[in-house]
Amino acid sequence: MEFFDSHCHLDPMRYGGELPEVLARARAAGVSGMAVIGTRASDSEAAAALAGSEPGLVATAGIHPNDVHDVVDGEWDRIVALAESGRVAAVGETGLDWYRDHAPRDLQAEWFDRHVALAQRLSLPLVVHTRDSIDDVLSVIRRAVSRGALEVVLHAFTGTSVQATEAVELGCHLGFAGMVTFRSSAVLRELSVLVPLDRILVETDSPFLSPEPLRGKRNEPGNVVHTARAIALARGVAIDGFAAATTANARRFYRCR
Ligand SMILES: [Zn+2]
Repeated sequence: MEFFDSHCHLDPMRYGGELPEVLARARAAGVSGMAVIGTRASDSEAAAALAGSEPGLVATAGIHPNDVHDVVDGEWDRIVALAESGRVAAVGETGLDWYRDHAPRDLQAEWFDRHVALAQRLSLPLVVHTRDSIDDVLSVIRRAVSRGALEVVLHAFTGTSVQATEAVELGCHLGFAGMVTFRSSAVLRELSVLVPLDRILVETDSPFLSPEPLRGKRNEPGNVVHTARAIALARGVAIDGFAAATTANARRFYRCR
């Protein structure tokens, strides 16, 4: 069985010298693919370097909405350079976060637009973070797809079934993270059943959001197996077929060789 962790943060600041063991445990669990997501220029560059040296890994480059008030001189140019270099598979993570107010909303919106334009200019897929902001995110995506092609994943999706349907109609993929395994997340599990199989990605969002039975511990890509199992169970399908389908979706989305 093969799994693909479609969203994880694996920079050395978060795992230090343990990164080789973290990758080895992921591969031992069948997680052969991982998308290492950038949130600043520095970790985007680290992600690209890691993906360049580790088989099965791809990187992305972007500035997280919670960090856009803190961007340093030249940082956006480094993101653009990475995206143009062909060393990253996608732009992001970007988006809108109305839950945390680290950065003012108008500034987040401006940076989100900037990432959307970069992705469209270079025909790269876009990794989107939403929190308490899905309707506003979907408006931005709707406007963007009316201008030209744009492939989007809404990562760690927790919206309603109406929002999920709208996102799917706009061509988005939905990424499901560890929350879908929580006892309290019956509604999210039901929603995950409604999403077309070819639009589902599974992710860990490591080092955050550990799934059951590992809640509260530092998360790592090998744990994506628990998330995939919870959704397969909810959908009443065999885990091997679900693993194969979500892995194929991630490879197609990130255009892995
Ligand atoms: Zn993330």
